[in-house]
Amino acid sequence: MPASVEIINTGNELLDGRTFNTNGQWMARRCSSKGLTVKRITVVGDSLEDICAAIREALSRKPDLILITGGLGPTPDDMTAKAMARALGRKLELNEEALKMIKRAYGLEELGSSREKMAWLPEGARPLRNPVGMAPGIMVEQEGTVIIALPGVPREMEAMFKEHVEPLLDQLSAGLARFEAYFLAYGVREADIADLLEEVAHKHPGVYVKTHPKVEEGRTYLEVYVSTMASSSSEARQKMEKVIHELSEGISSRGGSFKPFRPE
Ligand code: ATP
Ligand code: MG
Repeated sequence: MPASVEIINTGNELLDGRTFNTNGQWMARRCSSKGLTVKRITVVGDSLEDICAAIREALSRKPDLILITGGLGPTPDDMTAKAMARALGRKLELNEEALKMIKRAYGLEELGSSREKMAWLPEGARPLRNPVGMAPGIMVEQEGTVIIALPGVPREMEAMFKEHVEPLLDQLSAGLARFEAYFLAYGVREADIADLLEEVAHKHPGVYVKTHPKVEEGRTYLEVYVSTMASSSSEARQKMEKVIHELSEGISSRGGSFKPFRPE
């Protein structure tokens, strides 16, 4: 079974619609193309109780990885470390390595209490270097789940994801990756091919097929997404070939057309 991931994005601006949750989408895309299954994306506000509950709930489902964004900064509404500690039943402790990272980032020997706050991590956690901003990330493991908290600022999150999360994804995916193909089907509606999709899914459980109805200039058509997990593109091609052939045949026999398509 592919490794599973849950994502928790925090920030009031995400809940009231001021900011679009691009972090969630960006991370989900990275994780799933590496072959992991994203099980849930949860958005919560800057509330200690809500962040803590979201972490507890995610932990109870025992995913391999929980990714959190936001709330690592120096201000009082940044409380992800505290929420992590509470959810894990651990104390916060002053982490010497994090303290060094923050002093280096600011070029200061002495930090005020608000900056020092960023060095208080849950017991047993490891700080993650932030190559772009000030707040270190946080990595901690509990009962087989790795929990990683990254900053909310997309540029910082992305840089830290590449440095700290991607190597872990490679480890978790055990050499598997997701391979995808897109097709367009004209002249058939979803209801016309529901039986075909069911039959194909039943015969080829390792290949995922999903249709998305689209409309362009008044003309309706289906975008067909086909994906599978494999260790190489040739293995993926082999697994998907039959499915694609059966879809193509089935759609033609229902009076439709089926052709490959490359999304932007
Ligand atoms: P940090 O953990 O780095 O301190 P923060 O939670 O303090 O992050 P905020 O001040 O909440 O950071 O957000 C910083 C910027 O990042 C804001 O412009 C915010 O809208 C943006 N941002 C935060 N979370 C997301 C997200 N999930 N998707 C897109 N943008 C986000
Ligand atoms: Mg925030």
